[in-house]
Amino acid sequence: MPPGLPPSRFGISVLGFLLLLVVATAACPSIGKLIARSGNKQLKPVEPAPPPAAPHVLIFALDGVGYDQFNEAISLGASPNVDAVLGKPYRENGFFEHGYSIPNAVSVLPSTTVDAWAASFTGTPPAVNGVTGNEWFERETSTFFAPAPVSLPKVGGQTAEVYSEDLIGKQIKVPTLFEKIRGPSFVSLNGVYRGASVFTSVDVSSFGALTISYLESEIGADTAPEQKAYAKLDLDSVPLVVNLLKKRGIPDVQVVYFPGIDLYTHIADRALHDQVEYFKTLIDPAVGQIVDEYRKEGAFDSTYVIFISDHGHTPVLKDERHALAAKSDACAPKLLTSLGFRMRPLKINPSADDYTAALAYQGAMAYVYLANREICSPGQRCDWSRPPRFKEDVMTVARAFYEANVNGEWSSGLKGTLDLIFARTPTPTGASALAYMIFDGDRLISIEQYLDRHPRPDLIQLERRIRWLSAGPWGNHAGDVLLLSKSGLNRPIEDRYYFSRPYNSWHGSPSLQDSHITFAIANSKSSGRALKAIITQIGDSEPSPLDLTPLVLTLLKSESSGGASTLR
Ligand SMILES: [Zn+2]
Repeated sequence: MPPGLPPSRFGISVLGFLLLLVVATAACPSIGKLIARSGNKQLKPVEPAPPPAAPHVLIFALDGVGYDQFNEAISLGASPNVDAVLGKPYRENGFFEHGYSIPNAVSVLPSTTVDAWAASFTGTPPAVNGVTGNEWFERETSTFFAPAPVSLPKVGGQTAEVYSEDLIGKQIKVPTLFEKIRGPSFVSLNGVYRGASVFTSVDVSSFGALTISYLESEIGADTAPEQKAYAKLDLDSVPLVVNLLKKRGIPDVQVVYFPGIDLYTHIADRALHDQVEYFKTLIDPAVGQIVDEYRKEGAFDSTYVIFISDHGHTPVLKDERHALAAKSDACAPKLLTSLGFRMRPLKINPSADDYTAALAYQGAMAYVYLANREICSPGQRCDWSRPPRFKEDVMTVARAFYEANVNGEWSSGLKGTLDLIFARTPTPTGASALAYMIFDGDRLISIEQYLDRHPRPDLIQLERRIRWLSAGPWGNHAGDVLLLSKSGLNRPIEDRYYFSRPYNSWHGSPSLQDSHITFAIANSKSSGRALKAIITQIGDSEPSPLDLTPLVLTLLKSESSGGASTLR
């Protein structure tokens, strides 16, 4: 590994896993073996494919492509392959000749990759499925999970386990979409694939160019080489998927995931503009190749094509003032140690186990996990299965972050960087966690009450989404105190902060730009209106990633012959 390469730069999207593999291979030959196992991996006996006329669902999972960027990419014929699937656009919001693009779909919180895809492919919120972010700490077992590491300064072997060991699948506490489908389901690249018949992963050992282009970005070269390298990752999966479809037939469900577009956006100079260009020139032709195979197999008319994303992107300033995790004495750890907490080392498996505070980062959010300090002595393993004390541990920390934000006390680098501080009464391990409340400088009040007093229309569905994240059997995976940094397009870029190393763009917040996702459905034998009618049956008036799984199950149950045409 080249000296000075900060690997956590890769720790953002699921693409990060792949890049980490490339970097890690040089130091650890055993990881190279995992890489060699890429291709189409059969995970269980594959059921015979349904007949071409039976209903099928083809999901294009677009990492980090927010609603506005998707719309821009498909406007004015710029993405002819996607246009051909949706049909002619109508003037009315979201309607196409053969498609409907939900105008108000909002992601879960945090608006980050791993938890959003877990919610999409289970139909359950983070506090129920157990996956609360790109990384989290499980206090029951004192285990740190980082399928897409953000806070870690050193690379562990764990990222490889997403592909080799089904790391995310093992932590999801509820059934996945793929376990609910009787017929075959194929997943390409997405880290949530437990229960699928076949998993497609690319041969990342051929991606030496990625590390090189990464170094070029560090010295300030233009981003064209990165675009090429990330494109290779996204595009190399396409022939594998096409070959699989030729060999096995069209499955009930096929997920085609594009992770490269997200990482590219994090580093692109003009993040949102460059993302749209990437979509038009690279994603759109890839969509065309997959859809052509459906046409060749005679299954296109009976296929519902879904375009969905996990979050958007908000441009930020790439410097150590705004990247709150950029320094080793970074702001949040400094505050906690000033208060007398012992920090969990930033490693997957630290040798010390007497720590009393842990952190997990999600871009615009940070989770702070606290032990009951009364029962934890230096040099002795701390019992994390016991909850922290409300007043002495939780409220002490919430108040200190509040003060740091107001006047720089405890940690001067935090002054003016935070938007809101959440905390709650801890519950014993095994009991359902309570919903987070907001610390107003004096006490905890409910989000509803807070918003009554301080209206914040810029924080989309804050109460419901914080409840999804925090209230439930695994809600304690989101920490004991939650920090929300200042974020959102409505603030000047100088006033946006994020918990990670420096990037050009981040997400994770409840702002509209981070939260408003792509969620469109198309079928060549259906009208946009009929497709909207199907979606309206699912969930409530506020569509979200949680609706994807019930939607797919509903679509698969539609009549096999001419079912789609009856929806006109
Ligand atoms: Zn993502």
